[in-house]
Amino acid sequence: MLDLKREYEYMKADIDTAIKRCLEHQKWILGPEVKELEEKIAAYLSVKNCIGVSSGTDALVLSLRALAIKKGGQEYFDKSDKIITTPFTFTATGDAILRSGATPVFVDIDPRTYNLDANKILECLNSIKNIVGIVPVHLYGQPCAMDTFMDIAGKHKLFVVEDVAQAFGATWKGKKLGSIGALGAFSFFPSKNLGGFGDGGMVATNDPELADLVRMLLKHGGKDKYNVDHIGYNARLDTLQAAVLLAKLKYLDEFNEKRRAIAGIYDRKLANFSGIQTPQNVHEITDPHSCHVYHQYTIRVQEGNRTGLQNHLKGQGIDTMIYYPTPLHKMKIFGTRSTISGNIKETEQASTEVLSLPIDPLFSTAEITYIVQKMREYVF
Ligand SMILES: *Cc1c(COP(=O)(O)O)cnc(C)c1O
Repeated sequence: MLDLKREYEYMKADIDTAIKRCLEHQKWILGPEVKELEEKIAAYLSVKNCIGVSSGTDALVLSLRALAIKKGGQEYFDKSDKIITTPFTFTATGDAILRSGATPVFVDIDPRTYNLDANKILECLNSIKNIVGIVPVHLYGQPCAMDTFMDIAGKHKLFVVEDVAQAFGATWKGKKLGSIGALGAFSFFPSKNLGGFGDGGMVATNDPELADLVRMLLKHGGKDKYNVDHIGYNARLDTLQAAVLLAKLKYLDEFNEKRRAIAGIYDRKLANFSGIQTPQNVHEITDPHSCHVYHQYTIRVQEGNRTGLQNHLKGQGIDTMIYYPTPLHKMKIFGTRSTISGNIKETEQASTEVLSLPIDPLFSTAEITYIVQKMREYVF
């Protein structure tokens, strides 16, 4: 799916220098690189505060905990507090809601974008009481319809925490994703568009009170070691990860551009390909200031053919992935701890049809052509 070794070779000089600098200063915990990365990303996103944390999951948990504390002076949300999210996401999105004390409410997706459907959010708000917030996920790097979501949130006094784990660098009407909701939660998991050499994450927010709370929560819940106010975590971003990320940040826009170019090649070569459907870049078509960053290039495969196509490609040395075969509402952990709004038909259908093709930013046209050729050999 990704050749991280090739990516390292491409940026080797920058990364090696960054790591060497850490070896010299030995400031492993909240060293200067963490602050520098926070400032650079805050400038990149045009937000007032960025706070490095230990993973994308922790970025979500700390964001929600900060909101719970700010809202009611309670450490956690109550189980009766409900938060809308998509069931078509990585487990961490729903799990973070549970860990903040609230109950996830799963709302179905728009089958074109795989993101939460705004109309279904409205239906949910009409039928389910005590909704306090929305956690939209910009799945595969495609932006959610953020102004509609923010409008709904404003009218119903809901907070919005953007799960930007798959969409670093993507924009909605000219604004970077993660800068629009109350908070944005980013992941630096190695396979993400900006990935470290291990786990890492970032919270972005314009709200100084929420920023202070997240900063306290990530180091045991206090302003310092001996003035502890909240039930905190050890959830810092490592200096070494920050150094690697700083070196790689320079390439983010270039690499996202390369991803878009590869998606364009797939789009052209796979158009009119029977048995599959290419992804729809919904917003970029209607608004030139919204951009998709193709964390995944995900096609739909005609029913019953997905495993066959996947095995055929595997035999030719081509890995593909299914994101996600099991929607969250089908998992045991969420069984008795979540609510479903209406039906989840689109998510269920998507989970049986989607297939993500390799989209390494450094792929050559020849490599994409090879993948497409091998796809043509499979008979639907
Ligand atoms: C990767 C991911 C996360 C979690 O990030 P980690 O850094 O792995 O903890 C959360 N949400 C989504 C949508 C993700 O893709």
